Amino acid sequence: MADFKTHVCGAALISGSAAAAVAMVSPADEAVVLGLFGLGIVGGMLPDLDSDNSLPVRITFNVLSILGGFLPVFRFADSLSLVELALLGLSSFALVRYVVFAAFTRFTVHRGLLHSVPSALVCGQLVALLADRCLSLSPLVAWMSAAFLGGGFLVHLVLDELYSVDLMGRRIKRSFGTALSLGKKANWLGTLALYAGLAVLTTLTPPADAFLRLVRDPETLAVLSDRLLP
Ligand SMILES: [Zn+2]
Repeated sequence: MADFKTHVCGAALISGSAAAAVAMVSPADEAVVLGLFGLGIVGGMLPDLDSDNSLPVRITFNVLSILGGFLPVFRFADSLSLVELALLGLSSFALVRYVVFAAFTRFTVHRGLLHSVPSALVCGQLVALLADRCLSLSPLVAWMSAAFLGGGFLVHLVLDELYSVDLMGRRIKRSFGTALSLGKKANWLGTLALYAGLAVLTTLTPPADAFLRLVRDPETLAVLSDRLLP
């Protein structure tokens, strides 16, 4: 499998190009484009989150706990006092950093169910849901965020799969076919739960029409092919 550096570089390269494309074809402002770029990189690290002490786990949980601390503060900034906001931020930071992290490492095994295509879809949908419900972003931006996170996630799986093929010796390592999986036979109950979760999330996420319209719009493709070369 590919190492951490390869994953970050791969995700950054694809996510950066995609973010530049978004800047060309949509009226999204700079902050949104930067956020999308970041989400793509986070997505590229997510699948290896299940190796309990890896660098991506530590980085991601540190970032998540900071976000977890600040999001509720922003959300309730108008209605609560400073002291209440500080307490709210600190407790939600601690909840993510210690409780969720402990539960996460306890229940995941490395290259388990998280390292699969349906997990990429679930994570993407979760982002769309959070962007819509918690940050009140437009459905278009919510789905762009989902596409970047899910896309980064899939880039990671593809890279792991590519690295399981020994290109020089034309040997295929035993790990071939395990990275880009649709579920785990050994954990069929978990796989079933994952697909059920995906189905439930599909009913909760905001409508994707605006996003699909942008992606399918011939104008989008025309602008991109126009700007491809200097
Ligand atoms: Zn991996």
